[in-house]
Order: sequence, then structure tokens, then C-alpha cells
Amino acid sequence: MNAATPTHCPYCGLQCAMTVHGDSAADAAVAGRDFPTNRGGLCHKGWTSAELLRHPDRLTAPLVRARGRLHPTTWERALDRVADGVRATQRVGGPDAVAVFGGGALTNEKAYMLGKFARVALGTANIDYNGRFCMSSAAAAGSRAFGLDRGLPFPLADLGAARAIMLFGANVAETMPPLLGHLTTAADAAGLIVVDPRRTPTAARAEDGGGIHLQLSPGTDLPLALGLMHLAVIDGLADIEYIHARTTGFDAAWPAAAQWWPGHTERVTGVPESRMRRAVHILARSRRTHTGAYILTGRGAEQHTTGTDTVSAVIDLALTLGLPGRQGSGYGTLTGQGNGQGGREHGQKADQLPGYRQITDPAARAHVAAVWGIAPQALPGPGRSAYALLDALGADGGPRALLVHGANPVVSAPHAAHIEDRLRALDMLVVGDFLLSETAAMADVVLPVLQWAEEEGTTTSIEGRVLRRRRAVNPPAGVRSELRLWSDLAVRLGQPAERFPTDPGQVFEELRRASAGGAADYSGISYRRLEAGEALYWPCPATAEDAPDHPGTPRLFLDRFAAADGRARFVAVEHRGPAEPTDPEYPLTATTGRLAAHYQSGTQTRRIPELVAAAGDVFVQVHPDTAARFGLRDGQTAHVLSRRGRMTAQVRCDVTMRPDTVFVPFHYPGPGRANLMTNPQLDPTSAMPEFKACAVRLEAV
Ligand code: SF4
Repeated sequence: MNAATPTHCPYCGLQCAMTVHGDSAADAAVAGRDFPTNRGGLCHKGWTSAELLRHPDRLTAPLVRARGRLHPTTWERALDRVADGVRATQRVGGPDAVAVFGGGALTNEKAYMLGKFARVALGTANIDYNGRFCMSSAAAAGSRAFGLDRGLPFPLADLGAARAIMLFGANVAETMPPLLGHLTTAADAAGLIVVDPRRTPTAARAEDGGGIHLQLSPGTDLPLALGLMHLAVIDGLADIEYIHARTTGFDAAWPAAAQWWPGHTERVTGVPESRMRRAVHILARSRRTHTGAYILTGRGAEQHTTGTDTVSAVIDLALTLGLPGRQGSGYGTLTGQGNGQGGREHGQKADQLPGYRQITDPAARAHVAAVWGIAPQALPGPGRSAYALLDALGADGGPRALLVHGANPVVSAPHAAHIEDRLRALDMLVVGDFLLSETAAMADVVLPVLQWAEEEGTTTSIEGRVLRRRRAVNPPAGVRSELRLWSDLAVRLGQPAERFPTDPGQVFEELRRASAGGAADYSGISYRRLEAGEALYWPCPATAEDAPDHPGTPRLFLDRFAAADGRARFVAVEHRGPAEPTDPEYPLTATTGRLAAHYQSGTQTRRIPELVAAAGDVFVQVHPDTAARFGLRDGQTAHVLSRRGRMTAQVRCDVTMRPDTVFVPFHYPGPGRANLMTNPQLDPTSAMPEFKACAVRLEAV
């Protein structure tokens, strides 16, 4: 075992490069490694990630529930119980009675194999994953505008040269701190523009450099984007030549933006016209003077019932200014989860097959079925999307058994108490994890799996670059890789073992073939090339034996977009507002988000004392006048109540908050769960829930 293993961070989509020093969990330590995205830097989470490898809470034996409690058992007994449960459930309810819920943290190899395991070994259509709650709306909007979704269609380091960058609902100073370094040119040139209902550290950085914070009312991102597009047109900043040459649909989209006069936009969004005008002029000037202008969306714009349309409005703005598909300028979305990009490409989505193929496309089905050695008609069709799947658990006609891998929906799903009820209604809940998450604690069977620095594999970062995760330390006795346990289960369910390889390298070779010819084509990427240090961005198709290897595609769309006619599409969208408006009973809007010291549902980071100390207890951030209106003061414990439930948090007064808005982080368990109150209504296009706006009131405890 190498005593200095180059790999990547286990947490977010930036996938910072790091070196794991030491060859055992007990003495492992991490250090940042020079790499274009993190340039040697790591955030607090990354620095402390080696603690996970030796954490005393680590699961090292399968657990099965008996008499209401989880008891250690052998792998054979645990897997037998799962296989028996699958067979019994499907005997009564058919193949779709067993469902699978995956995660955006799974490596590419595991995301691929989980989709295959679900559709071939279980024969179920019901597989989706937690990325549906993350960036599915941006993926849908990117696909319909450009014909292809890749989070950043350019290398992240390109941002470093730009003098104007608009972050639409992204708080990178807390979620991806090393990324902030790439925004320095823009920030120092007074060109960083942050759209956020809160004065986040990112918004503060923008203002400190003379940039702009557009502090909009939650849920008004879409009209703000249309209002900015309107200003670009009436102020003569639209790139007419680009619109004619590279896009289609402007004439249909313009009437929607035309009605968003600056004064009207200001009344609805709360953003002063002067700030909007300054922002759009900064972007246009930077593009015209070739000093670079980018617009990037994050969860703030995307996690709405209008998420897809909101991102479409932002893309319409970017197209009006002539940014996408231009060297040094562009639009992108900042994927959040560690393998948020790869996790959505290899077939764990309800509607997709590997290579980003649509499951309803006969040619795609035939291609993937041939790789899997099955008949196309044996492939199930599209299944339920993530929340719809969870909502149907245990209900009439819904799944009665669920396998969860790489997710913790008890904390991360909207309307979390309802989801807990649905999980309780199951005949069998199986969770694969390396720590006892809140969801695992409810399971009938818990399967202890490898974690990041114990296994080989690949992830695909925020910029579409495929990266090698490497094994740095030996796993503890008693744990297995997901690849092995899915293979073991598949064999118990009657599949040939050779159809479910357990070696990540072998799985990647199969993934390459399955992705060949698809939008996310990995067929030219190999472990060999990655080990040689090549920077490979998909699409990277295989070439003929005697031809040079394909170099990959760091920058997409420079010559043409991915639609058949090569043009980007404007999409006409209308403002509908949050699904749940405020009223006298629930007069405030709650918005949720992340903290610097925690990651997602907190299963990992809530176990690292240094991070726990840095993050503190769960809080509700509120303007002091608003707190006073509800008879509350700073430091007091309060309930935040919505129509679905209430969470409990400490009041944190902050004069920079909008008086109509409260903010709660979503990493905490138990009564501090923000998702006890969030709204599970879904975006009709992407099935994204409305995490970023629900009507609430405050009460003293
Ligand atoms: Fe890890 Fe993300 Fe922090 Fe980088 S920014 S160290 S990838 S959590």
C-alpha cells in the first residue's frame, strides 16, 4: 500500500485533489494537492475527512432487526434475508414492488451498477436517487436549452480570468470555499454579482470588492432573471449578432420578459432597479470587452417548483447577453454532491440509462440491453421520480420494499416526517452505509460498506472531468463494497455472477461500452489514461485502434450546441411564484441551505467534533425586528412551523436578513430537521421539490 496516495475529497462536487498520507486508518492524514480546481486548497470538511476512516461509529458488521432492535449478524444471513424479502415482496406485488433509492455520492462504477442491479437483478422500474433533490431542474433546463447537460461546460479554472461573474443562488464561500479563489479577478474588478435572499459570506465578498448583492425575495429568481433580460434588451445590451447566429426562439421568449419592466420587477423581487441595471451592464461590458462574463446557478435558483423554468429564465438572460458557447464566457450550474455529475449520467435516474440515454428511446434500450446481455423488452420502463417513489412506499400499488444506497432521506427528503411514516409502512427497508444514518437506524437490514479512501473508482467533477478515487487504507474487517454485495444479491436472485462484476476496473470497462455513443460518452476514457494524469472531460469517444486517443472535451458548444440544428434554445417561461404563498397565518418565507462545516444530511460531518464545534447547534436566522414581532430574542429556542410540521432551532438574529425571510440549515437530525417543514410539491418538468420557499411562522418554545 502506498504511504502517500493521490485521491479526491469524499464530499462535494468540486472533488478537491488531496493526498492521503499513511497506510492505515489509524494514522491516515490528508493534505491538499495541487490541481486546477482547488490549487492545493481544501475546506474544513476536506481537512478533517481522514477522521471518517477511524471513526468509532463505523459499521463493521451487517445488522438485522429482530424484536424491534438491530443486531449484528453474518453477511450470509443478512444477504439471505434481503434476497428472501425481495422474493416474497415481488411474489405478491410484482417486480416494481421493490424499489431502489441511490445517491449522488456513489462513484461512477457504483451509480452504473446500481442502475443495472435494479433493472436486471430486481427487474424493477422503481429506481431514482437523491440527485433529484439537488440539481435535476438545472439538468432539465440545460438539456432543453443546449441539447446536453454538463454542469460546467468549460473547465472551472476558466472562471479565473473573468472580470464579471453572476452567482444565481450559489453560496460558494460556504459550500465550496476553494472555488472562491477562482472568482478573485471578478471580485477585485467589482464584477462579482450574487443573487441570494441572504447576505451570505459570498454576497459579502461581492460587496466588499465593490460588486453587487441582489437580495431578492425567496422564490422570485425567475422574474428577476426575466427583468434582467428585459433591461439587457431595452438598454441595447443584447448581443443581436449572437442571437441570430447561434440561437433560436428569442421571438417566442421575449414577450414573457417584455412584461417585466424594471419597476414591476423591483416590486415583485424587492431588488432595486439601479442594482439590476448595474449588474446587467457589468455582465454585458465584460463580454463585449472580451474580459469574460459568466452566469452560474446553484440550488437557490434551482430548488423550486418552478426550478426548471427558473433556470431557463437565467439561461435566456445568458443567451441574450451572448455568453454560452463562447471561449472565456458562459453559463453553468454548480453541482453540489461529490459525484453529482457522474451520478446523473450512468443510469440510476428513473428515466435514464447509462450514457445519459433516455430509457424510453428504443435505440438506447437496444444498446444498453446488448451490453447487459438481456433482451431490450426485458428492460423496465421509466419509474417514479425520487419524491414520488418515497411518497408511494407502502401505499396501495406502491413499492413495499426499499433498498437505499448512499442517501439519507429521513433527513434530506422534503416533508421528512411523512417520509418517515412511509418508510415505517414498508415490509422491508435495507440500507447500505458505513455509518448508522437516521435512515439506516430505521432499517430492517443494514449492510456496512466501504468508504471513500478504502476503494477504487472514479467520480466526475463539477466540470465534467473524470477523476480517480484510490484506495489509500485497508478497510476494517467485516465491510464489503457495494459492487460485491449487489453481485452477491444478484446471484441469490438467480443472475449469473459474471453479469455483476465486483472489480471497479472491470465495471468501468463495461460502463465505457454502455456509454459509447451516448451524450455522456466515456468510451475513450480508461483507468490507464487517468493514471497517466490525462485531464479527460466527457464526451470522450473511443477512437480506432490505430488512431490517437480522443483528447476529451473540456469546452463544449464552442462551435455548435448539441441540438440537431446546432443552436441554443430560448425557452418562454412565466412566473408562477412559490407553490405555497405566505398568508396571515404563515407570514414568513423559510429558505434552507448549507453551512461551511457540514455536508448534506450531516451523517458524516455531524460525527467530526471539530466540524460540530465550528457549525454549532441548529439555528433559525432571522431579522431582529421579525424576531421581536414573534416575541423572540436572540439565542432563544423557537419552533419554525409550516403547514406540514415544525422544527426546533435557536434564534439567531441578523440585521442583514430580509424581514420577510428566515433561513435554516438542513444538516441536522431529529426536531432540528429543516425538512420537517419543507414543501414536497414538485417541479412538473424535473420533479424537483420546493426546498427554497415555504410559508412559516415562528413560536417561542
Ligand atoms: Fe471537499 Fe468540497 Fe471542501 Fe473541496 S470544497 S475540500 S471537495 S468539501
